[in-house]
Amino acid sequence: MLNIARLNSAPEIFYSLQGEGTRCGTPAVFLRLAGCNLACKWCDTKHSWGNGILCSTGDVASLIQDFNCHSLVITGGEPLLQQAALTRLLALLPVGMHVEVETNGTLCPTPELEQRINQWNISPKLIHSGNPRDKALKPEVLAHFATLPQAWFKFVVQGEEDWPAIEALNLPPQRIILMPCATTRAALENARPAVVDMCLRHRVRLGDRLHLTLWDDKKGV
Ligand code: SF4
Repeated sequence: MLNIARLNSAPEIFYSLQGEGTRCGTPAVFLRLAGCNLACKWCDTKHSWGNGILCSTGDVASLIQDFNCHSLVITGGEPLLQQAALTRLLALLPVGMHVEVETNGTLCPTPELEQRINQWNISPKLIHSGNPRDKALKPEVLAHFATLPQAWFKFVVQGEEDWPAIEALNLPPQRIILMPCATTRAALENARPAVVDMCLRHRVRLGDRLHLTLWDDKKGV
């Protein structure tokens, strides 16, 4: 069984455009799992923290395939809290489906799950998330992800003061993405210029948040 986030009394599985990362703009089915091991104060999916809806992997596979889309984004919450069920789900999906996982980078994937994932979007949480540092940043887990060529590291940043903590993690700079800290379109526009400056200064990639530009803070899109 998979515990899926509840939105408007239904399991949160929907079709949209990937709003972040290197595949920004790509049409994809989104599967949002319930439960998280962190509690970021600016989390834009707090509805996923509580009890979700339990669904069989077979039912979830059918719901995903109903969208007739060959790209799947698994998000949360923290998806790696449900690795065994996720691995069973992915075995039911067509070969060739492109699967991305959005994770906070605190848990290592099992080898069985790892081999089924095409792209990891890892978003380690910095001090302004409000989580205790030793709970939110697991250098040994991030070092493992850094060995995977299909892993990207997306940091939500507020300003230059965040850079030393990112640099200290010693991740491949060509796979670091900085994203403005924002949960609305207006906040995104306000926060973006400082992040553009950081990207130019440190020669890393800017990650915008297309879903905020398109839909502001609406859920389930
Ligand atoms: S890790 Fe992600 S889902 Fe969990 S609290 Fe932080 S932003 Fe929200």
